[in-house]
Amino acid sequence: MVSTVHCPNCGAPAQAGSATCFYCRAVLAWPGAPGGGAQASGPGGMPAGVVEALRAGNKIEAIRLYREARKSSLLDAKNAVEALEKQLGLG
Ligand SMILES: [Zn+2]
Repeated sequence: MVSTVHCPNCGAPAQAGSATCFYCRAVLAWPGAPGGGAQASGPGGMPAGVVEALRAGNKIEAIRLYREARKSSLLDAKNAVEALEKQLGLG
C-alpha cells in the first residue's frame, strides 16, 4: 500500500515515488523513506525487520530497527513498537 503525501509547500497531492512536487518542485519527505535504502515496509507501514523481531520476542531489537529506519526518538520507537505488539496480539 502506498501512502499519500501532500506537498509541504503548496499542499498538492504528490505522486507516489516522486522526490519533488510536480507543481512547485518542493522536496517531498516520504514517511519511512530511508535515504536511498531499499527496505520494504512491513504490515502497518513498519520498517523491515521490526515485525519479525517482535514476533521472535526480541522487542529491544524491534525498537532498535524502528529507530534506525525512522530516525525517531527512543520514546517514539517504543510507543510504535508497543502499539504494533498489541496489533499483533503479542502484548
Ligand atoms: Zn508543491
